[in-house]
Amino acid sequence: MPVNTDEPITTNRKPKLLIVDDQVLIIRVLHELFKDSCDIYMAHNGLDAIEKCTSIEPDLILLDVVMPKMDGYEVCKILKANEQTAKIPIIFITGSFEEADELKGFELGAVDFIRKPINAVITRARVNNHLALKKQTDLLRSIALIDGLTGIANRRRFEAAIHTEWLQSVRDKSAISLLMIDIDEFKKYNDHYGHLAGDDCLKKVAQAINEATGRPYDLTARYGGEEFVVILPKTNHEGAQLVAKQIMKAVRDLNIPHEKSAHPIVTISIGVTTMIPEQTSNFETLITTADQALYKAKSTGRNTLSSIE
Ligand SMILES: [Mg+2]
Repeated sequence: MPVNTDEPITTNRKPKLLIVDDQVLIIRVLHELFKDSCDIYMAHNGLDAIEKCTSIEPDLILLDVVMPKMDGYEVCKILKANEQTAKIPIIFITGSFEEADELKGFELGAVDFIRKPINAVITRARVNNHLALKKQTDLLRSIALIDGLTGIANRRRFEAAIHTEWLQSVRDKSAISLLMIDIDEFKKYNDHYGHLAGDDCLKKVAQAINEATGRPYDLTARYGGEEFVVILPKTNHEGAQLVAKQIMKAVRDLNIPHEKSAHPIVTISIGVTTMIPEQTSNFETLITTADQALYKAKSTGRNTLSSIE
């Protein structure tokens, strides 16, 4: 499922609650209960609910079971079948006390039921519990995409992002660039200064790279060990080389001493590549080419960048 990992993990935004009911009175009652603690969105029928779910991506849906045309079960089925909306928790609102109805709702993937007439205390408790759970799940999901040591995106996040950005570039027929970055003589650094200093060096370099890539849709990730990768969507080759130079400067400006290197400070090498993807091409090519460019940079003496267009 696509995860909005651009949101900071310590987000304190109000949860988004979507209330779906064909009766205006019920919507009004629920709105009154949650207007202070949530950002409220409303829908009066199934189609409207589905449309709002994809555009708003609410944190929780209160979904009426009995509605004309498309009932709540049908709405639930459609939301669960769509990757983008499948993980949004749904609480059914129902006037029924039939066990079979409740069973059906749970089978369709609902997390809970609230009965009409609405009891304020019970409804508040149920909704707040599920919102708290949703917040924890979001937090865990975003932690799973962050590199534990450096705090930047990890390889898993990179792999998801390169896939999405590649498809976007195919659609836009726009250039996409990739930087593959490696810290020069890092093994010697670790051997000489010790692993704690090595970790510290990785953290500082990661932050410097991250800060040097300014735009919100650029992605810096730790690729593995002392290797980093930067995705630059909508960036031509000249633009990518410029960013690479800025990154090299940012790392040199850290001025981290490295006695065992040909240069007395920590430096990096960068492989730069750019492609305008076609339907038939594959993003693996972008990665392999950037890797080849990096290898070239390494073999021509490090502390340099090398490009393959
Ligand atoms: Mg109804």
